[in-house]
Amino acid sequence: MPNDHTSVVVAVIPPCDLCGEPAIADAATSLGPWAYVCADHFRSQGCALGLGRGQELKLAVPRETREEHEFNEGWDHDPADHR
Ligand SMILES: [Zn+2]
Repeated sequence: MPNDHTSVVVAVIPPCDLCGEPAIADAATSLGPWAYVCADHFRSQGCALGLGRGQELKLAVPRETREEHEFNEGWDHDPADHR
């Protein structure tokens, strides 16, 4: 499996270590230690993605949810077809 070191798949999105909001990344903060950071703290802590810097958190998608998503996409396309 290719890995560019900019993202990691997680089963559960953890809370931001700094404010408790849902985290978007596990990244090195300006203070040094790695932490789960939300979008706001990712910016304010000067975080970046990449090897040794940080990894974006990607939620593992259960099969059922993925099928539901595909169903919704198909449903969204219907109105355009009848325009
Ligand atoms: Zn935060």
